[in-house]
Amino acid sequence: MKKYFLQFLLIFFLIFTIACNKNNNKFMSEKIIKTEEEWMSQLNDEQYYVTRLRGTERAFSGKYWNHKEYGIYSCICCNQDLFLSDTKFDSGCGWPSYFSPINSNVIIEKKDISHGMIRTEVLCSKCNAHLGHVFPDGPPPTGLRYCINSASILFRSID
Ligand SMILES: [Zn+2]
Repeated sequence: MKKYFLQFLLIFFLIFTIACNKNNNKFMSEKIIKTEEEWMSQLNDEQYYVTRLRGTERAFSGKYWNHKEYGIYSCICCNQDLFLSDTKFDSGCGWPSYFSPINSNVIIEKKDISHGMIRTEVLCSKCNAHLGHVFPDGPPPTGLRYCINSASILFRSID
């Protein structure tokens, strides 16, 4: 009798462990994938052009290049939190600039050789939205400048 009980316990724990791992994996690799039509209906023309077609808004034209409120900037496509106002600085380049993302998991950096330049493209890790580029001419502590299109982010204030 005791032997069966132990076997039962063992099977129970095995199932429990497998179920937990499944949930973890789901959480870690949770990507948002939508069709072009779905993105088009969710975003306005400029947001779609920047985030899904890897476009760039005109300098000094976006709503956040000179925005100085305290809060969080998240991805316009999937709401993932990307940048804190604490890391925003006045770069004078005409786009919102940050010296680091909220953490390294929220962005993907990719080599970009378009337009005859070698740059590092910055994308949202959850939905692959094009956000902007990162350059090695930022202020301390990182020395990096994440040059981000206003059209790819959404600000919300925090108390
Ligand atoms: Zn996103």
